[in-house]
Amino acid sequence: MKKILVLLMIICLCACHKEPTMEEKLAEVGYSEQDIAFIMSLDQNKQEKFLEGLDERSLRFMKLEGCIDDNLDAYLKYDGQFDDDKVVELVNRGILNDGSLSSLKELYSSDYYLEKNEDLYLQYLDQYDSVRSMIEIVNTRRYKELFSDIVLNDVSKNYLMLVNKYYSLPSDYEPDDLVEVPSEYGRGRVRQVPFEAFVKLHDDALEAGYDIRIVSAYRSYDYQQGLYEKYLQVDPQEVVDTYSARPGLSEHQTGLCMDVSLPGLSIDDFYLTDASVWLAENCHRYGFIIRFPRYKDNITGYQWESWHIRYLGVEAATDVYERGITFDEYYACFVED
Ligand SMILES: [Zn+2]
Repeated sequence: MKKILVLLMIICLCACHKEPTMEEKLAEVGYSEQDIAFIMSLDQNKQEKFLEGLDERSLRFMKLEGCIDDNLDAYLKYDGQFDDDKVVELVNRGILNDGSLSSLKELYSSDYYLEKNEDLYLQYLDQYDSVRSMIEIVNTRRYKELFSDIVLNDVSKNYLMLVNKYYSLPSDYEPDDLVEVPSEYGRGRVRQVPFEAFVKLHDDALEAGYDIRIVSAYRSYDYQQGLYEKYLQVDPQEVVDTYSARPGLSEHQTGLCMDVSLPGLSIDDFYLTDASVWLAENCHRYGFIIRFPRYKDNITGYQWESWHIRYLGVEAATDVYERGITFDEYYACFVED
């Protein structure tokens, strides 16, 4: 009888001191009910790691789709630099490391970052002078060889349409609102609204002492073809392409741009005048930009043309001017869908 009593007492003691379950241990460390449910879905080795102390950061990453256990230390190292998903993605792709961190931070915080170009940015991340110029080159498609991938432009963008060495106009495109430029403003034909804007620009420039006039405006596809072929007789094609557009790729076919100068002055000498400074500083107020700015030929594909102004409307022209970017990039970031 005594023996039976002792045995019962031992059984009772054992029952009272039963080992706490894993869930209970995790709760004791401080995990929430939700976290415990997640940890319990892991294998036992991992479960036990979470007993060493509250590890909410690891848990955050482990819950993400795409988390690879072997990369966990790297996720934790770059925790907070980007969104968690981006940290996981960049580490998994082998892109995020100490050497690339600052470039990646600049890239993802840039005003000109376009999600659709992400893979290209990552591909060319350190291949140009700076992250900013890399972004500009990718956005404007300049990483491609010139003329290698020409697409038809979107004429419905109207005053904001882009024509350059990657965006062409159909050979039969001719705007239907071209007006003849009266001789006091120069010569040629230009679309109605840009013409009205130019009249204001001209009158204000005249008051400031500069008689800025239109030398060349709308040019048809056929006219441009003749012009381009004429230049080819003088210079090799790679040189001609730096100053003259191939037919279908000339902004002059849009009727939205004009070459300007002072009476009797060659456009090649226009940059030497105070009028060209006035024009560069003021034309955005009338809706124009200097379309091929200095030091931007790596983007526009053309030498600096102090005389070539392009109509965009006051809002866009002012934005381009204030940002100091090319229209090619402005189009990619703010106009193209
Ligand atoms: Zn021009």
